[in-house]
Amino acid sequence: MERTPDVTIVGGGPAGSALAVLLGRQGVTVVLYEKAHHPRLKPCGEGLLPHGVAALRQIAGIPDVPHVKGLRFVAGTVSADVDFPDDGLVVRRDRFDAWLFELAGGTPNVDARPGTAYRPGPTGLLVGADGCHSMFHRQLPGKVASPRRAGLSSHVVGLTGLGDRVEVFFHDDGELYVAPTGGGEALVSALFDYRHFRRDGITYLLNKTAWLRGRLSDLEFTTPVLAAAPLGLYVPRIVDRSQRLLLVGDAAGTPDPITAGGLALALAATRIAADAIVTGAFDEYERRRLEMGRTANRLGRLILWLGRTERRAEWVLRRLAWGVEPLLNLALRRSQVSGSGPFDFVRPKLGRETNDAQDGLWASGSVAADTRRLDLRRPPSDSRS
Ligand SMILES: Cc1cc2nc3c(=O)[nH]c(=O)nc-3n(C[C@H](O)[C@H](O)[C@H](O)COP(=O)(O)OP(=O)(O)OC[C@H]3O[C@@H](n4cnc5c(N)ncnc54)[C@H](O)[C@@H]3O)c2cc1C
Repeated sequence: MERTPDVTIVGGGPAGSALAVLLGRQGVTVVLYEKAHHPRLKPCGEGLLPHGVAALRQIAGIPDVPHVKGLRFVAGTVSADVDFPDDGLVVRRDRFDAWLFELAGGTPNVDARPGTAYRPGPTGLLVGADGCHSMFHRQLPGKVASPRRAGLSSHVVGLTGLGDRVEVFFHDDGELYVAPTGGGEALVSALFDYRHFRRDGITYLLNKTAWLRGRLSDLEFTTPVLAAAPLGLYVPRIVDRSQRLLLVGDAAGTPDPITAGGLALALAATRIAADAIVTGAFDEYERRRLEMGRTANRLGRLILWLGRTERRAEWVLRRLAWGVEPLLNLALRRSQVSGSGPFDFVRPKLGRETNDAQDGLWASGSVAADTRRLDLRRPPSDSRS
Protein backbone atom coordinates (compact mmCIF):
# COMPACT_ATOMS: atom_id res chain seq x y z
CA MET A 1 0.00 0.00 0.00
CA GLU A 2 1.19 3.52 -0.86
CA ARG A 3 2.47 5.53 2.12
CA THR A 4 0.63 8.78 2.87
CA PRO A 5 3.04 11.69 2.27
CA ASP A 6 3.55 14.40 4.87
CA VAL A 7 2.28 16.94 2.36
CA THR A 8 0.26 16.73 -0.87
CA ILE A 9 0.62 19.69 -3.21
CA VAL A 10 -2.01 20.19 -5.90
CA GLY A 11 -0.57 22.17 -8.82
CA GLY A 12 2.93 22.13 -10.28
CA GLY A 13 3.10 25.78 -11.37
CA PRO A 14 5.79 28.04 -9.87
CA ALA A 15 4.20 28.13 -6.39
CA GLY A 16 3.66 24.37 -6.07
CA SER A 17 7.04 23.42 -7.52
CA ALA A 18 8.92 25.96 -5.39
CA LEU A 19 7.18 24.76 -2.24
CA ALA A 20 7.97 21.13 -3.08
CA VAL A 21 11.67 22.01 -3.47
CA LEU A 22 11.78 23.82 -0.12
CA LEU A 23 9.94 21.07 1.76
CA GLY A 24 11.74 18.15 0.14
CA ARG A 25 15.10 19.64 1.08
CA GLN A 26 14.00 19.76 4.71
CA GLY A 27 13.10 16.07 4.76
CA VAL A 28 9.35 16.54 4.36
CA THR A 29 7.83 13.90 2.06
CA VAL A 30 5.77 15.47 -0.72
CA VAL A 31 3.56 14.29 -3.55
CA LEU A 32 3.24 17.01 -6.19
CA TYR A 33 0.33 16.66 -8.63
CA GLU A 34 0.35 18.57 -11.93
CA LYS A 35 -2.53 17.90 -14.28
CA ALA A 36 -0.73 19.24 -17.37
CA HIS A 37 2.47 18.09 -18.99
CA HIS A 38 5.31 20.63 -18.96
CA PRO A 39 6.32 22.55 -20.97
CA ARG A 40 2.94 24.26 -21.32
CA LEU A 41 2.13 27.88 -22.03
CA LYS A 42 0.33 30.01 -19.45
CA PRO A 43 -1.28 33.44 -19.93
CA CYS A 44 1.19 35.78 -18.24
CA GLY A 45 3.26 38.96 -18.66
CA GLU A 46 6.31 36.85 -17.66
CA GLY A 47 8.05 39.63 -15.73
CA LEU A 48 9.62 38.63 -12.40
CA LEU A 49 10.19 41.61 -10.10
CA PRO A 50 13.41 41.83 -8.08
CA HIS A 51 11.90 40.58 -4.81
CA GLY A 52 10.74 37.51 -6.75
CA VAL A 53 14.24 37.12 -8.16
CA ALA A 54 15.65 37.23 -4.61
CA ALA A 55 13.25 34.47 -3.55
CA LEU A 56 13.99 32.42 -6.65
CA ARG A 57 17.73 32.68 -6.04
CA GLN A 58 17.31 31.01 -2.66
CA ILE A 59 14.86 28.39 -3.87
CA ALA A 60 16.26 27.32 -7.22
CA GLY A 61 19.03 29.62 -8.41
CA ILE A 62 18.71 31.91 -11.42
CA PRO A 63 17.98 30.40 -14.84
CA ASP A 64 19.57 31.67 -18.04
CA VAL A 65 16.86 34.18 -19.07
CA PRO A 66 16.84 37.87 -20.06
CA HIS A 67 17.47 40.34 -17.27
CA VAL A 68 15.65 43.69 -17.17
CA LYS A 69 16.88 46.73 -15.30
CA GLY A 70 13.53 48.43 -14.87
CA LEU A 71 10.17 49.54 -16.20
CA ARG A 72 9.16 52.10 -18.80
CA PHE A 73 5.68 53.56 -18.43
CA VAL A 74 4.32 55.27 -21.56
CA ALA A 75 1.14 57.27 -22.05
CA GLY A 76 0.49 59.39 -25.12
CA THR A 77 3.71 61.24 -25.82
CA VAL A 78 5.32 60.90 -22.40
CA SER A 79 7.38 58.12 -20.87
CA ALA A 80 8.95 57.61 -17.46
CA ASP A 81 11.70 55.09 -16.75
CA VAL A 82 12.01 53.49 -13.35
CA ASP A 83 15.17 51.52 -12.60
CA PHE A 84 15.20 48.51 -10.30
CA PRO A 85 17.97 48.42 -7.69
CA ASP A 86 18.55 44.80 -8.74
CA ASP A 87 17.66 43.09 -11.98
CA GLY A 88 14.24 41.71 -12.72
CA LEU A 89 13.86 38.72 -15.06
CA VAL A 90 11.65 37.81 -17.99
CA VAL A 91 10.70 34.16 -17.68
CA ARG A 92 8.96 32.47 -20.62
CA ARG A 93 6.42 30.48 -18.70
CA ASP A 94 6.56 27.27 -20.70
CA ARG A 95 10.31 26.98 -20.09
CA PHE A 96 10.39 28.47 -16.60
CA ASP A 97 7.58 26.33 -15.19
CA ALA A 98 9.06 23.19 -16.77
CA TRP A 99 12.48 24.01 -15.29
CA LEU A 100 11.09 24.51 -11.78
CA PHE A 101 8.91 21.40 -11.97
CA GLU A 102 11.88 19.34 -13.08
CA LEU A 103 13.90 20.72 -10.19
CA ALA A 104 11.11 19.74 -7.80
CA GLY A 105 10.98 16.24 -9.28
CA GLY A 106 14.71 15.85 -8.73
CA THR A 107 14.57 17.01 -5.10
CA PRO A 108 14.91 14.28 -2.42
CA ASN A 109 11.59 13.30 -0.81
CA VAL A 110 9.51 14.77 -3.67
CA ASP A 111 7.34 12.52 -5.82
CA ALA A 112 6.30 14.74 -8.77
CA ARG A 113 3.47 13.41 -10.91
CA PRO A 114 3.09 15.24 -14.22
CA GLY A 115 -0.09 14.78 -16.24
CA THR A 116 -1.95 13.71 -13.09
CA ALA A 117 -4.96 15.62 -11.85
CA TYR A 118 -5.41 15.44 -8.08
CA ARG A 119 -8.17 13.19 -6.74
CA PRO A 120 -9.07 13.28 -3.05
CA GLY A 121 -7.43 10.50 -1.02
CA PRO A 122 -5.04 10.15 1.92
CA THR A 123 -2.94 13.30 1.74
CA GLY A 124 -1.28 14.41 4.95
CA LEU A 125 -1.35 18.20 4.88
CA LEU A 126 -3.05 19.39 1.70
CA VAL A 127 -1.71 22.43 -0.17
CA GLY A 128 -3.75 24.11 -2.90
CA ALA A 129 -1.29 25.50 -5.46
CA ASP A 130 -3.71 25.08 -8.33
CA GLY A 131 -3.96 28.69 -9.45
CA CYS A 132 -6.61 31.36 -9.32
CA HIS A 133 -9.44 28.96 -10.25
CA SER A 134 -8.50 26.63 -7.41
CA MET A 135 -10.77 23.70 -6.60
CA PHE A 136 -10.21 24.53 -2.90
CA HIS A 137 -12.10 27.81 -3.18
CA ARG A 138 -15.18 25.74 -2.37
CA GLN A 139 -13.82 25.49 1.19
CA LEU A 140 -11.94 28.81 1.28
CA PRO A 141 -13.87 31.10 -1.08
CA GLY A 142 -12.35 34.03 -2.94
CA LYS A 143 -13.63 37.38 -4.10
CA VAL A 144 -12.92 38.47 -7.67
CA ALA A 145 -11.56 42.01 -8.10
CA SER A 146 -13.85 44.71 -9.43
CA PRO A 147 -14.12 46.00 -12.12
CA ARG A 148 -13.89 42.68 -13.90
CA ARG A 149 -10.82 42.48 -16.15
CA ALA A 150 -9.49 40.09 -18.77
CA GLY A 151 -6.02 39.56 -20.22
CA LEU A 152 -4.39 38.19 -23.35
CA SER A 153 -0.80 37.14 -23.85
CA SER A 154 1.37 35.78 -26.64
CA HIS A 155 4.87 36.07 -28.09
CA VAL A 156 5.96 37.89 -31.23
CA VAL A 157 8.99 38.43 -33.39
CA GLY A 158 9.33 41.54 -35.54
CA LEU A 159 9.03 44.07 -32.73
CA THR A 160 12.31 45.95 -32.85
CA GLY A 161 13.99 48.18 -30.26
CA LEU A 162 13.54 45.73 -27.39
CA GLY A 163 15.85 46.95 -24.68
CA ASP A 164 16.40 45.89 -21.12
CA ARG A 165 13.13 47.24 -19.76
CA VAL A 166 9.59 46.01 -19.51
CA GLU A 167 7.39 48.55 -21.30
CA VAL A 168 3.85 49.36 -20.16
CA PHE A 169 1.64 51.42 -22.49
CA PHE A 170 -1.56 53.00 -21.16
CA HIS A 171 -4.59 53.48 -23.40
CA ASP A 172 -8.19 54.49 -22.78
CA ASP A 173 -9.38 50.96 -23.37
CA GLY A 174 -6.54 48.89 -21.90
CA GLU A 175 -2.86 48.46 -21.18
CA LEU A 176 -0.24 46.85 -23.37
CA TYR A 177 2.78 45.20 -21.81
CA VAL A 178 5.94 44.27 -23.74
CA ALA A 179 8.89 42.30 -22.33
CA PRO A 180 11.97 40.91 -24.09
CA THR A 181 12.08 37.11 -23.85
CA GLY A 182 15.39 36.74 -25.71
CA GLY A 183 16.53 36.00 -29.26
CA GLY A 184 14.58 38.96 -30.64
CA GLU A 185 11.30 37.62 -29.32
CA ALA A 186 8.95 39.58 -27.06
CA LEU A 187 6.15 38.72 -24.72
CA VAL A 188 3.11 40.89 -25.44
CA SER A 189 0.17 41.07 -23.11
CA ALA A 190 -2.99 43.19 -23.29
CA LEU A 191 -5.18 43.88 -20.26
CA PHE A 192 -8.74 45.17 -20.49
CA ASP A 193 -11.83 45.98 -18.54
CA TYR A 194 -14.56 43.49 -19.63
CA ARG A 195 -16.47 46.24 -21.40
CA HIS A 196 -13.45 47.03 -23.61
CA PHE A 197 -12.27 43.47 -24.17
CA ARG A 198 -11.68 42.37 -27.75
CA ARG A 199 -10.30 39.11 -29.04
CA ASP A 200 -7.79 40.88 -31.27
CA GLY A 201 -6.71 43.03 -28.31
CA ILE A 202 -2.98 42.50 -28.74
CA THR A 203 -2.77 43.54 -32.39
CA TYR A 204 -5.30 46.29 -31.72
CA LEU A 205 -3.20 47.86 -28.94
CA LEU A 206 0.09 47.27 -30.77
CA ASN A 207 -1.28 49.22 -33.73
CA LYS A 208 -2.74 51.89 -31.50
CA THR A 209 0.53 52.60 -29.70
CA ALA A 210 2.18 55.52 -31.51
CA TRP A 211 5.38 54.91 -29.55
CA LEU A 212 5.72 51.51 -31.24
CA ARG A 213 4.75 52.55 -34.74
CA GLY A 214 8.28 52.63 -36.12
CA ARG A 215 9.18 49.41 -34.34
CA LEU A 216 6.74 46.97 -35.96
CA SER A 217 8.14 45.13 -38.96
CA ASP A 218 6.65 41.89 -40.28
CA LEU A 219 5.18 41.11 -36.91
CA GLU A 220 4.63 37.41 -36.40
CA PHE A 221 3.06 35.58 -33.50
CA THR A 222 5.27 32.71 -32.33
CA THR A 223 2.85 31.24 -29.80
CA PRO A 224 -0.96 31.09 -29.66
CA VAL A 225 -2.76 33.98 -28.00
CA LEU A 226 -3.95 32.87 -24.57
CA ALA A 227 -6.71 34.50 -22.58
CA ALA A 228 -7.40 34.68 -18.86
CA ALA A 229 -10.33 36.07 -16.91
CA PRO A 230 -11.25 37.37 -14.46
CA LEU A 231 -8.02 38.99 -13.25
CA GLY A 232 -7.32 39.72 -9.59
CA LEU A 233 -8.55 37.63 -6.68
CA TYR A 234 -8.76 38.18 -2.93
CA VAL A 235 -9.06 35.13 -0.66
CA PRO A 236 -9.74 36.25 2.93
CA ARG A 237 -8.87 32.89 4.55
CA ILE A 238 -6.05 30.77 3.19
CA VAL A 239 -5.59 28.24 6.00
CA ASP A 240 -8.20 25.76 7.18
CA ARG A 241 -6.81 23.93 10.19
CA SER A 242 -9.79 21.60 10.56
CA GLN A 243 -9.33 20.33 6.98
CA ARG A 244 -5.53 20.52 7.19
CA LEU A 245 -5.58 22.70 4.08
CA LEU A 246 -3.38 25.64 3.09
CA LEU A 247 -3.36 27.75 -0.09
CA VAL A 248 -0.29 29.16 -1.86
CA GLY A 249 0.38 31.13 -5.05
CA ASP A 250 -2.58 32.47 -7.03
CA ALA A 251 -4.88 30.09 -5.16
CA ALA A 252 -4.20 32.26 -2.09
CA GLY A 253 -5.12 35.41 -4.03
CA THR A 254 -3.47 37.36 -6.81
CA PRO A 255 -3.16 41.06 -7.69
CA ASP A 256 -4.18 42.52 -11.04
CA PRO A 257 -1.41 41.69 -13.55
CA ILE A 258 -0.79 45.42 -14.08
CA THR A 259 1.41 45.11 -10.95
CA ALA A 260 3.54 42.43 -12.69
CA GLY A 261 3.76 40.99 -9.21
CA GLY A 262 1.84 37.68 -9.08
CA LEU A 263 4.85 35.46 -9.62
CA ALA A 264 7.03 37.39 -7.19
CA LEU A 265 4.31 37.23 -4.56
CA ALA A 266 3.88 33.49 -5.15
CA LEU A 267 7.60 32.75 -4.84
CA ALA A 268 8.31 35.06 -1.91
CA ALA A 269 5.36 33.79 0.12
CA THR A 270 6.22 30.17 -0.64
CA ARG A 271 9.23 30.53 1.62
CA ILE A 272 6.97 31.59 4.49
CA ALA A 273 4.58 28.72 3.71
CA ALA A 274 7.43 26.19 3.86
CA ASP A 275 8.50 27.53 7.26
CA ALA A 276 4.90 27.35 8.49
CA ILE A 277 4.53 23.75 7.37
CA VAL A 278 7.75 22.73 9.09
CA THR A 279 7.15 24.69 12.31
CA GLY A 280 3.35 24.67 12.46
CA ALA A 281 3.17 28.50 12.38
CA PHE A 282 0.12 28.54 10.10
CA ASP A 283 -1.39 31.69 11.60
CA GLU A 284 1.83 33.54 10.91
CA TYR A 285 1.80 32.37 7.28
CA GLU A 286 -1.81 33.46 6.86
CA ARG A 287 -1.20 36.86 8.42
CA ARG A 288 1.91 37.67 6.40
CA ARG A 289 0.64 36.31 3.09
CA LEU A 290 -2.63 38.22 3.39
CA GLU A 291 -0.73 41.42 4.19
CA MET A 292 1.55 40.93 1.16
CA GLY A 293 -1.53 40.34 -0.99
CA ARG A 294 -3.30 43.46 0.33
CA THR A 295 -0.24 45.58 -0.44
CA ALA A 296 -0.06 44.23 -3.99
CA ASN A 297 -3.80 44.78 -4.46
CA ARG A 298 -3.55 48.37 -3.25
CA LEU A 299 -0.72 49.01 -5.71
CA GLY A 300 -2.76 47.46 -8.51
CA ARG A 301 -5.83 49.57 -7.74
CA LEU A 302 -3.72 52.72 -7.61
CA ILE A 303 -1.98 52.05 -10.94
CA LEU A 304 -5.32 51.27 -12.58
CA TRP A 305 -6.86 54.46 -11.17
CA LEU A 306 -3.92 56.61 -12.29
CA GLY A 307 -4.02 55.01 -15.73
CA ARG A 308 -7.79 54.91 -16.16
CA THR A 309 -7.57 57.13 -19.23
CA GLU A 310 -4.58 57.76 -21.44
CA ARG A 311 -4.90 61.47 -20.74
CA ARG A 312 -4.79 60.95 -16.99
CA ALA A 313 -1.81 58.60 -17.26
CA GLU A 314 0.00 61.08 -19.49
CA TRP A 315 -0.67 63.89 -17.01
CA VAL A 316 0.59 61.73 -14.13
CA LEU A 317 3.78 60.79 -15.98
CA ARG A 318 4.39 64.40 -16.98
CA ARG A 319 3.64 66.05 -13.62
CA LEU A 320 4.06 63.38 -10.96
CA ALA A 321 6.85 61.15 -12.25
CA TRP A 322 8.80 62.06 -9.11
CA GLY A 323 6.13 60.17 -7.12
CA VAL A 324 6.57 56.88 -8.97
CA GLU A 325 9.72 56.06 -7.03
CA PRO A 326 8.41 56.40 -3.47
CA LEU A 327 5.15 54.72 -4.40
CA LEU A 328 6.67 51.59 -5.89
CA ASN A 329 9.38 51.65 -3.29
CA LEU A 330 6.84 51.54 -0.49
CA ALA A 331 4.64 48.91 -2.08
CA LEU A 332 7.47 46.58 -2.98
CA ARG A 333 9.33 46.96 0.28
CA ARG A 334 6.15 45.87 2.02
CA SER A 335 5.79 42.94 -0.37
CA GLN A 336 9.16 41.66 0.63
CA VAL A 337 9.94 38.80 2.90
CA SER A 338 12.05 40.16 5.72
CA GLY A 339 15.67 39.21 5.50
CA SER A 340 15.90 39.46 1.72
CA GLY A 341 17.46 42.91 1.80
CA PRO A 342 16.30 46.45 1.14
CA PHE A 343 14.42 47.26 -2.02
CA ASP A 344 14.93 50.74 -3.33
CA PHE A 345 13.91 52.22 -6.61
CA VAL A 346 16.01 54.97 -8.01
CA ARG A 347 14.40 58.17 -9.18
CA PRO A 348 12.56 57.79 -12.50
CA LYS A 349 13.93 59.53 -15.56
CA LEU A 350 11.45 61.35 -17.76
CA GLY A 351 11.70 60.35 -21.41
CA ARG A 352 11.82 62.85 -24.20
CA GLU A 353 8.54 63.62 -25.87
CA THR A 354 8.00 62.25 -29.33
CA ASN A 355 6.73 64.32 -32.24
CA ASP A 356 4.53 61.50 -33.46
CA ALA A 357 0.97 62.47 -34.19
CA GLN A 358 -1.36 60.85 -31.65
CA ASP A 359 -3.94 59.62 -33.11
CA GLY A 360 -19.84 39.24 -24.48
CA LEU A 361 -17.13 37.70 -22.90
CA TRP A 362 -17.03 34.64 -20.57
CA ALA A 363 -18.23 36.99 -17.86
CA SER A 364 -19.21 34.44 -15.29
CA GLY A 365 -17.30 36.48 -12.75
CA SER A 366 -16.96 33.36 -10.69
CA VAL A 367 -13.73 32.08 -9.31
CA ALA A 368 -14.25 28.96 -11.39
CA ALA A 369 -14.20 30.85 -14.73
CA ASP A 370 -11.87 29.08 -17.09
CA THR A 371 -8.72 30.09 -18.91
CA ARG A 372 -9.23 29.75 -22.63
CA ARG A 373 -6.98 29.41 -25.56
CA LEU A 374 -7.90 31.55 -28.53
CA ASP A 375 -6.21 31.22 -31.87
CA LEU A 376 -5.86 34.83 -32.92
CA ARG A 377 -2.99 34.58 -35.34
CA ARG A 378 -4.59 36.85 -37.85
CA PRO A 379 -3.58 40.16 -39.34
CA PRO A 380 -3.95 43.34 -37.29
CA SER A 381 -7.36 44.90 -37.64
CA ASP A 382 -9.08 47.91 -36.15
CA SER A 383 -12.53 46.41 -36.24
CA ARG A 384 -14.02 45.16 -33.01
CA SER A 385 -14.78 41.47 -32.91
C1 LIG B 1 -2.61 38.14 -18.39
C2 LIG B 1 -1.73 37.89 -17.19
C3 LIG B 1 -0.51 38.56 -17.08
C4 LIG B 1 0.31 38.33 -15.96
N1 LIG B 1 1.52 38.96 -15.89
C5 LIG B 1 2.34 38.74 -14.85
C6 LIG B 1 3.64 39.33 -14.80
O1 LIG B 1 4.09 40.02 -15.71
N2 LIG B 1 4.41 39.08 -13.71
C7 LIG B 1 3.97 38.29 -12.68
O2 LIG B 1 4.72 38.13 -11.71
N3 LIG B 1 2.77 37.70 -12.71
C8 LIG B 1 1.94 37.89 -13.78
N4 LIG B 1 0.74 37.26 -13.82
C9 LIG B 1 0.35 36.38 -12.69
C10 LIG B 1 1.06 35.02 -12.75
O3 LIG B 1 0.78 34.39 -13.97
C11 LIG B 1 0.59 34.15 -11.57
O4 LIG B 1 0.74 34.91 -10.39
C12 LIG B 1 1.38 32.85 -11.45
O5 LIG B 1 1.14 32.02 -12.55
C13 LIG B 1 1.00 32.12 -10.17
O6 LIG B 1 1.62 30.85 -10.12
P1 LIG B 1 0.89 29.62 -9.41
O7 LIG B 1 1.88 28.52 -9.37
O8 LIG B 1 0.25 30.06 -8.15
O9 LIG B 1 -0.34 29.24 -10.36
P2 LIG B 1 -0.33 28.72 -11.86
O10 LIG B 1 0.81 29.24 -12.60
O11 LIG B 1 -1.71 29.00 -12.37
O12 LIG B 1 -0.15 27.14 -11.73
C14 LIG B 1 -1.18 26.31 -11.22
C15 LIG B 1 -0.92 24.89 -11.72
O13 LIG B 1 -1.86 24.01 -11.11
C16 LIG B 1 -2.24 23.02 -12.05
N5 LIG B 1 -3.52 22.45 -11.63
C17 LIG B 1 -4.71 23.08 -11.57
N6 LIG B 1 -5.66 22.25 -11.10
C18 LIG B 1 -5.03 21.06 -10.84
C19 LIG B 1 -5.47 19.79 -10.35
N7 LIG B 1 -6.76 19.58 -10.01
N8 LIG B 1 -4.57 18.79 -10.22
C20 LIG B 1 -3.27 19.00 -10.56
N9 LIG B 1 -2.81 20.17 -11.05
C21 LIG B 1 -3.68 21.17 -11.17
C22 LIG B 1 -2.30 23.79 -13.37
O14 LIG B 1 -2.18 22.94 -14.49
C23 LIG B 1 -1.11 24.74 -13.24
O15 LIG B 1 0.06 24.22 -13.81
C24 LIG B 1 -0.11 37.45 -14.93
C25 LIG B 1 -1.33 36.78 -15.04
C26 LIG B 1 -2.13 36.99 -16.15
C27 LIG B 1 -3.44 36.24 -16.26
